[in-house]
Amino acid sequence: MLDRALEVVFPLRCAGCGSGPWPFCGRCAGALIALEPPWCSRCGRPTEVPADRCRDCPPEPVALARAPFLFDGPARAAVLKLKFGGWRTVAEALAAAMAEMGFAAAMAEMLLPPADVVTWVPLARRREAERGYDQAKALARPLARRLGLPASQLLRRTLGTAPQARRSAAERRAALRGAFRSIRPAPASVLLVDDVLTTGATAAACAEALLGAGASSVALVTAARAVPGRLPLRYARGGFPSGSVVARGGSPVVDASRGRNDPRKATVGR
Ligand SMILES: [Zn+2]
Ligand SMILES: [Zn+2]
Repeated sequence: MLDRALEVVFPLRCAGCGSGPWPFCGRCAGALIALEPPWCSRCGRPTEVPADRCRDCPPEPVALARAPFLFDGPARAAVLKLKFGGWRTVAEALAAAMAEMGFAAAMAEMLLPPADVVTWVPLARRREAERGYDQAKALARPLARRLGLPASQLLRRTLGTAPQARRSAAERRAALRGAFRSIRPAPASVLLVDDVLTTGATAAACAEALLGAGASSVALVTAARAVPGRLPLRYARGGFPSGSVVARGGSPVVDASRGRNDPRKATVGR
């Protein structure tokens, strides 16, 4: 019933621009920047040649990380709607992309042992109360459903943390140490969901708490990823792999036939 009410307040419209058809209108789907191999096999950052690690890998306790989209353009707009605009239904569109791009399922299998559960980076309770929902949980539940895995809250945030935008990676890690506590035993293999991967400090703090609660491996899946520094040349003007999530029967699907050579404005090297 709550979902119904939310649909009336926030009807299912394009998660990027807010006016085209759900989940992403043709224009926004074409402007999504998909993160694709060759990449760092550990964290999914696109690279010129395949790599096992990169300098943008999240800190150690996070075994693997993947995101379907660069945190830019319509993907950034969608995450901001989810985080700050109260558009909870955007989570369904992003979770569909996270599942349809195939890597979440692949990661669930790549983990040793394969993933047992999907959990999320919890918001501080006060923030959740202000917003009315926890955006990472809103992503985790539909993703778990699509992967056929249970979703379970395993962590609680014990510290409200200050905005982190201007802190260094080391400062972020120090500030987050002990910020999460497990609230129940963790199974061996956990898929952790968050909205955006930046430095990975938050995910690392969560992974530490999960390992302390009995997990043996933790992989991170986010809706988008901020990539510091330059992207590989194939992402330069006219050649970047476009997002391939298109609306088809109300559900995004991966369309491999398009998106290789679309000349569009690229956002490289920010
Ligand atoms: Zn749109
Ligand atoms: Zn990496």
